[in-house]
Amino acid sequence: MIPILDLKKQIAPMRVEIDAAIKKVIDTANFIFGKEIYAFEIEVARYTNAKYAVGVSNGTDAIKLALVALGIKPGDGVICPAFTYYATAGAIACTGAIPIFADIDPDTYNISILSVENVLKYKKKLKIKAIVPVHLYGQCADMDSILKIARQNKLKVVEDTAQAFGAEYKGRYAGTIGDCGAVSFFPGKNLGAFGDAGMVLTNSKIIDEKLRILRNQGNKKKYDHLVIGYNNRLDTIQAVVLNVKLKYLDSWNKKRQGNAEYFNEQFKGLRIKTPIVGKYNIHIYHQYVLRLNTSSKKLIEHLRNKGIDSRIYYPVPLHLQKCFKYLNYRKGDFPESEKAAVQTLAIPVYPDLTGQELDYIVSSIRELLQ
Ligand SMILES: *Cc1c(COP(=O)(O)O)cnc(C)c1O
Repeated sequence: MIPILDLKKQIAPMRVEIDAAIKKVIDTANFIFGKEIYAFEIEVARYTNAKYAVGVSNGTDAIKLALVALGIKPGDGVICPAFTYYATAGAIACTGAIPIFADIDPDTYNISILSVENVLKYKKKLKIKAIVPVHLYGQCADMDSILKIARQNKLKVVEDTAQAFGAEYKGRYAGTIGDCGAVSFFPGKNLGAFGDAGMVLTNSKIIDEKLRILRNQGNKKKYDHLVIGYNNRLDTIQAVVLNVKLKYLDSWNKKRQGNAEYFNEQFKGLRIKTPIVGKYNIHIYHQYVLRLNTSSKKLIEHLRNKGIDSRIYYPVPLHLQKCFKYLNYRKGDFPESEKAAVQTLAIPVYPDLTGQELDYIVSSIRELLQ
């Protein structure tokens, strides 16, 4: 069996180091806001060249806290793609703001600039205050165009960097280009904790301060609650695990890129579209996503029979989810999102795949498509 991701294989070589780091936290019994939190925040800021990095409870809360810190209020409109994980729009809705969907670019699966322009033109009555581009599968959205639109329309920009920690756009790290970047360290992400964890990146001192207050019950000093905040802190145990794993991230991402290049080469000439990397992007292949011009169901089924796990991320676009019914979207509103939800499949691309496993995946796909 080749799973879509094998965390046991990833953890094994650094197990002694991680066990020691966790033991130290238990020995000191500093489980909340130990100095390890700040140490990890400094490492992440250094790694991404962000001025500030604020550890939080998970990637969803990172988006939510960023929006609140940037002044997004209940009733404001916030644009995001219709084709992404639920949490992008879920976090927007949790602030009381209204998710406003846009379609995606069919090549990169990231938010379509044309669609964003249309939304701004036809939804003039809504108080649109922010945009949350998603760097889906590990490559950045068209940030220059997004920043330009944001400037023209006075929109705040929160980059959903859950799948792209370590990716680059024009030499800048994903999550450091907009007003804030929301990072997820969900175990299955390229840098994964041993549970839930996240981070908000920003270059603004004011936003950094607001985030620190918001994540900790609105506290600046203990029992001095300035605003209604949240319990959205990063766990100390997660911080030490992540600090050990961060050292390996670049080598893992390089291996993912190598695997992706190998697949691209091997799938040439087949009736299948390999990932298209946007101009200026360094893709870190959180997912390696293939596309057919028909439904990918048969291929997924075929691979399952061969013992290879493959998936559609994501099979139901957000505008068609029951929970967003109140937004009154209909089938057909975002044709590229709806098509991608049918025609794509992600295959295993994780760093620990062996050459033999890569070849087995390739030959299994060839078998059906040749
Ligand atoms: C994983 C993910 C999130 C949410 O992160 P959590 O840490 O699970 O809360 C948000 N957006 C996207 C695109 C994701 O993939």
